[in-house]
Amino acid sequence: MFPRISLSSIIKLSAFLAAVYFTDIKLPEKNIPPKNDLVLIINKAPIDTETISKKIEYIPALVVNRENKVRTVIKKDEIEGIKDIKNLADTSAYEEAWAYLPEKQEWHEIGFDEEIINYEPTIRNDVDYKKKLSRENNEIFIYHFHPTDESIEREGKEQEVVENEPEDKEEQYKESENYLGNIFEGYEDACPSMPDIISMIYSSINYTKLNPNVTIISKLGSIYGVTKYYLTEKGFEHYNQNNIDDVILKNPHALSTEDSIKVSSDFIEIDFRSYNYLENMLN
Ligand SMILES: [Zn+2]
Repeated sequence: MFPRISLSSIIKLSAFLAAVYFTDIKLPEKNIPPKNDLVLIINKAPIDTETISKKIEYIPALVVNRENKVRTVIKKDEIEGIKDIKNLADTSAYEEAWAYLPEKQEWHEIGFDEEIINYEPTIRNDVDYKKKLSRENNEIFIYHFHPTDESIEREGKEQEVVENEPEDKEEQYKESENYLGNIFEGYEDACPSMPDIISMIYSSINYTKLNPNVTIISKLGSIYGVTKYYLTEKGFEHYNQNNIDDVILKNPHALSTEDSIKVSSDFIEIDFRSYNYLENMLN
C-alpha cells in the first residue's frame, strides 16, 4: 500500500530541509586538514528568512513560544533572564532563542519553527529581525538554550519520524565535534553545536557590516550554566577578508576547572561558566 503522507510531516520535512540548507557545509574532495587545525569548508551563506509580521507580546518571563505569529518581549536584566533559561533548559524539550539588549534590558524572541525531528530539537532564527536589531542597537547577546536529553526523549516519542539527515553531515562535522565533545564530556548540553558556531560567525560578520558599532556575542544556556562563543579580533579580520572560508577551530587549546571550560583558538573562543561560578561572581 502506498504510504500516506500527512500535511504535518510535509511541513516538518520542509522545515528540516530548510534547516539543513541553512547550514549547508561541504568539505572539498581530498581535503587534508593541517596538523592541529580543525577544518570545515563553508560554501553557502544562510538564506535570509523573511518572516511574517508578528504581534509583539510583553510577558513577565522567558518562555518557549511555538506560536509563530507572536513575538514575545521580556523586560528584565540578564541575570534574571538567565534564571528563566535555566528553568527552561530543565523542563522544555523545545529550544528557543532571544536577542538580549543590555542597554535596554530587554529580551526579544528571535526563534521560530521550534520542532523536534528524530529526537533532535530544531529552531530557526528570524534573520530579518536580527538585522533590524543590529541597526538599532550597539550591543546584542544572541541567546538560545539546549534542552536535556530526558526532555527531548519524553517529547520525541510523540513526534513523527522523518527521513534521515543527509549522510555526509556527520562526516563534515566529525572532527570539530569530536574535539569539543571530548572537552565538554559530562557537560554536552553546554557545548555549542557546529551549526551554532557557524551561525555565530555569520551573525558577527554580517551584522557588523550593517552597524560597525554593534557588538554581537552568542550565548548558550543549559542545565549546567552559560557558554559564550565569539570571534576573536583575528577571527573578525580573517572571516572579513577571506569571505567565509574553511577554518573553524585553528590551533585550538582548552583549559578547564571545576566550574569553567575555556576553548581558545586563533579565530574563535568558547567560554563556559557554571551557574555556581556565575553566582559567586555576583556575590
Ligand atoms: Zn544550539
